[in-house]
Amino acid sequence: MEPFIRAYPPNRPTGSVHRWYVLRGDDLVVDVHNTTNPLPGTPHGPTAITTTEQFVLGTQGDVSVYAAVVPADCELSEGLQTINLRNLMNLPGVQPEVIMAASYAKQLVEFRTLSRFCTRCGSLYRSIPNNWGYRCEPCKFEIFPPVSPAIIVLIHSGDRVLLTTKVGWGDRYSLVAGFTEPGENFESCVAREVREEVGVEVHNIRYVGSQCWPFPHQVMVGFLAEYKSGDIVMDAEELADARWFDRDAMPLIPPPTAISGQILDIWLKKQTATGMIRGFDQVLV
Ligand SMILES: [Zn+2]
Repeated sequence: MEPFIRAYPPNRPTGSVHRWYVLRGDDLVVDVHNTTNPLPGTPHGPTAITTTEQFVLGTQGDVSVYAAVVPADCELSEGLQTINLRNLMNLPGVQPEVIMAASYAKQLVEFRTLSRFCTRCGSLYRSIPNNWGYRCEPCKFEIFPPVSPAIIVLIHSGDRVLLTTKVGWGDRYSLVAGFTEPGENFESCVAREVREEVGVEVHNIRYVGSQCWPFPHQVMVGFLAEYKSGDIVMDAEELADARWFDRDAMPLIPPPTAISGQILDIWLKKQTATGMIRGFDQVLV
């Protein structure tokens, strides 16, 4: 599949084929027979549905890519259905480019929907020309679509890995994760989250990849970290269990569609990885 190229500045593309990422709330409107692809259409809209807001996302090869919105109570015509973005991301075989464009559409729609009035003086925002941002003309305050980084880290020590589980996860174990705080870099965040959640110290923190996580606007930044010292002291408010597992006696772990599953796969296969996770220019060295 051709790479998705964002339109910047967000002008109208000139491709002859058009695809539409149509959102109804958090769900993507899709063809019942082709649930992982955007809807076909013309520069004026998708062929199968009447939308409200529309805007350009970018291009994918010769294909012009657009986003559009239908109201939450919109009745879909025969042949259309919705798929929740979380479920789309977990579908086996869905192309990373589709997830990237759909996530981009969802986050821009949310930003445009929720950012009507200036948070400083209450005046109506106006679009900044050739930009996704908004500006308040009376007080000159500007805002842009937010992205909130969060780290996710695999703690390893030889052939052991320290995994955690939460209430409601059943038998599944996964990695330590948490939001980056103001004034913090990723490496400090990894060390802090590990200390807070499982009480141990880590070092040799290495970046392995990232994944867009548009709920509502995170990017998950993945790391491997080597155990340095300390006994497990679990944050009982956040976790149900935390323990070491041997490489050859692993519990149920997340699927490879999740970044946690992919980082575990990298460690289990003893790979050294750099670059982006989930097929976006992934490089293994
Ligand atoms: Zn203002």
